[in-house]
Amino acid sequence: MEPDSEPFRVRIARPDPVVHATLAAVRDRLRLDLVSASPADVVLLHLASAAGLDEIDRLLEEEPDVPVIVLAAPDAPGLFDAALRRGATDVVSTERPDPLTLGRSVRYAGERRRTRRALRKKTEEAHRLREALVEIAKTDVADEDLAFRRLARASSRALGVDRVSVWLFNEDHTEIVCRALYRRADDAYESGQRLRSIDYPAYFEALAESRAVPASDARSDPRTAEFAEGYLRPHGIVSMLDVPVRASGRLFGVVCHEHGGGRRAWTLEEQEFASSIADHAALAIEDAERRRAEEALRDERNFCSAVLDTAATLVAVLDPAGRVVRVNRAFCRLMGHTPEQAAGRSFTDLVFSPADADGVRAALESPPPAEAVGEHEHAWITRRGTRPRVAWTLAALRGSDGAVKHLVVTGVDITERKALEEQLIHDAFHDSLSGLPNRSLFLDRLAHAIRQAKRRPDRRFAVLFMDLDRFKILNDSLGHLSGDRLLVEVGKRVASVIRPGDTVSRFGGDEFTLLLDDVRAESDAIQVAERVQKSLETAVRIEGHDVVTSISIGIALGGAEYARAEEVLRDADLAMYQAKSKGGARHETFNPSMHASALSRLRIETELRHAIERGEIVIYYQPVIDFSDGRIAGFEALARWSSPTRGLVPPSEFIRLAEDAGLIIPLDRVVLRGACRQLRRWRERFPRLRPLSVGVNLSGRQFVQRDLVEHVRDVIRENGLEPGCLNLEITESVLLDGSPQVAEALQALHDAGARISLDDFGTGYSSLSYLHRFPIDVLKIDRSFVSSMRAGGEGEEIVRTILTLAQGLDLQVVAEGVETREQADALKRLRCDYAQGYLFSRPVTAETAETLLEKELDSRPVNA
Ligand code: C2E
Ligand code: CA
Ligand code: CA
Repeated sequence: MEPDSEPFRVRIARPDPVVHATLAAVRDRLRLDLVSASPADVVLLHLASAAGLDEIDRLLEEEPDVPVIVLAAPDAPGLFDAALRRGATDVVSTERPDPLTLGRSVRYAGERRRTRRALRKKTEEAHRLREALVEIAKTDVADEDLAFRRLARASSRALGVDRVSVWLFNEDHTEIVCRALYRRADDAYESGQRLRSIDYPAYFEALAESRAVPASDARSDPRTAEFAEGYLRPHGIVSMLDVPVRASGRLFGVVCHEHGGGRRAWTLEEQEFASSIADHAALAIEDAERRRAEEALRDERNFCSAVLDTAATLVAVLDPAGRVVRVNRAFCRLMGHTPEQAAGRSFTDLVFSPADADGVRAALESPPPAEAVGEHEHAWITRRGTRPRVAWTLAALRGSDGAVKHLVVTGVDITERKALEEQLIHDAFHDSLSGLPNRSLFLDRLAHAIRQAKRRPDRRFAVLFMDLDRFKILNDSLGHLSGDRLLVEVGKRVASVIRPGDTVSRFGGDEFTLLLDDVRAESDAIQVAERVQKSLETAVRIEGHDVVTSISIGIALGGAEYARAEEVLRDADLAMYQAKSKGGARHETFNPSMHASALSRLRIETELRHAIERGEIVIYYQPVIDFSDGRIAGFEALARWSSPTRGLVPPSEFIRLAEDAGLIIPLDRVVLRGACRQLRRWRERFPRLRPLSVGVNLSGRQFVQRDLVEHVRDVIRENGLEPGCLNLEITESVLLDGSPQVAEALQALHDAGARISLDDFGTGYSSLSYLHRFPIDVLKIDRSFVSSMRAGGEGEEIVRTILTLAQGLDLQVVAEGVETREQADALKRLRCDYAQGYLFSRPVTAETAETLLEKELDSRPVNA
């Protein structure tokens, strides 16, 4: 649409042969088109007189910017001026109308008009594009692709282009990818198409080199012809205006304007505009990149904060001057400060006591070199004033110049761990039950005492080795919980009688040891031993029972002569054993001869073990006499050890030993089985005799054995014993333990047909109430009462009381150790049922016992 290429359209306002003729002469030369209707480039008006001047107004009103050329007669005065005043562009004289003058005037007016119009159009266009750019600049789009779409659409509208698209290079610049393509025809978008740069070398080179690639005939333009078959033709594209998208010197992609239909030349303004669009696309890219970077930074910060705050470790970041920049949540939790309260404060003042502050300040002032950390441990002071123990490290964060940028303190609250460690150390040296020092600590203190004695030979110390009497039975029968409580109470009582410098320990089980640090004489130690024993005189109340216990104490006095703690303990232990074997509830002081007896005891124990296995235990029988007829009512079975080396060993020398060594269980069972078998034989041999009974002693230890009742039942069954033939003799101490197991076992034994005899009656701590609670059948009055009857002393009174009691309870009574006629008479007078003693017979072998029974058959009864 170039202004010069088209002929001028000339309209003659009023048909006029003169004007026609004149114009016809120059029409072809000046390329004028004579038209009769609008639009026209020029209007010609022939005025005959001033009366037609109004016509000018009308024409200008009709088409304001169309120049009006007036033809007028020169003789009409003032008409020329009036026409020009009215707005005519030119006035040409009708006199001898000169075709050239008229033609030039028309052409001149027409060209002016065309130029003005083109100028105006251009200005308008530029204005419109500028407006479009302003609109575009106003929009702020976070999303890159949305920005591309808007740009494409805006550009398409502003430039009147069919398709506008934004393409970006992929990472390695091998292809461009369409991010947004706007189609004006259907106001729609597409994206995703890809073009490989290797396939279009000329195009991509042009793109890299130029500010714009305008191709009015894209199919033949050397820069874009590469697209002709594969891209332009299929899409009906004729003209293209492609502008590279550049930002900070880098080529990011391209904005393509694709125009179909007729060829289109791209004006500089349009190219400028397209470039601006590309610049906006670049801005959107940079914007998106910046946003992404900011987001990544924000994410990173949030991530670091989250990690810091979820960490259990205390973290404080300080500036190089030691002021708090930041603290994490764990720090705030422990220390009680909010981050705001901590910020800006001197870390040293915030956390440490004045006593620690100087040292910490020094550490902060000379932080460890890069990569290294300084390790510290202090009590920190919280806002609440508590003082947690914190293990902390100090590290310095340095800039590239090596200068300290930040100090990082990380700490762990080790208060609990410390307490635990202390607890562990305490536990390692203390007994958990009683809280007293344990064996290790005791040995340690004792070793210390020995070392001191070696340095100062005048210094003596004493060790008291203490063992509760009968504790095992008590513990097994009362239950371990009660046993434990008893031990705790005993520990307390022992501890209550010692001096501050002395050490009491629970050495193990029911053993306690005492170290008296500085003793002058044996009497000092004995005094303490007596105080301990006195402290145990009051009963301990456990689960409704008053439990009275006693303790056996061995004393060893020591000094420089001992080399090791264990030696002192061994001697004290031996002395304790001595106290035990003398009946317990007493103290003995060590003397060297105890070593010898301990050795022999050990030997006997070994031999006794073999003796039971080899059948060296033999049974002696002591008759029990019925006072009513003086005849043998039965026997008590008494164990003897027939040793090939020692000869016949009495029970006093091995029963206690057997109990201590756990040998009493098999021993008692050997006797029980043997005695019952013997009884059966005698009953078979002497069917005419009345039913004999046999008494068998049962150690208290038997009651801990679960199978005791079953064993007794078996033996009764094996030998076909009638009920009441077997007397099981137990001592009061068994009842004293008072546990349900013992009561149950006794009842079961009783139910199995055995009778229960209470041996050595009167010597124990008897509470008569026991007699109600257990199925007791027989009382055996202890020998000591019977023998004291002879002296005519209080013995008789006691025996009388026992017998009255027994009769009240319907119990039978056997008097033990009857040695004299007088005793027998007295007992008979007191209506005692049975007697046993040397007066009638010593314990004898089964053979001898049998001859006694033979005599029974025919002779008169023994002197009863
Ligand atoms: P114990 O059960 O009180 O037995 C009675 C003891 O008194 C027997 O001593 C007997 O010989 C003795 N004795 C009997 N009459 C007289 C007398 O008139 N005067 C004197 N001075 N003593 C007399 P032995 O046989 O030495 O037994 C001592 C203890 O050994 C028994 O006392 C009993 O506690 C225990 N014992 C004996 N055999 C066994 C056994 O098989 N098992 C258990 N667990 N203990 C046994
Ligand atoms: Ca007995
Ligand atoms: Ca007895």
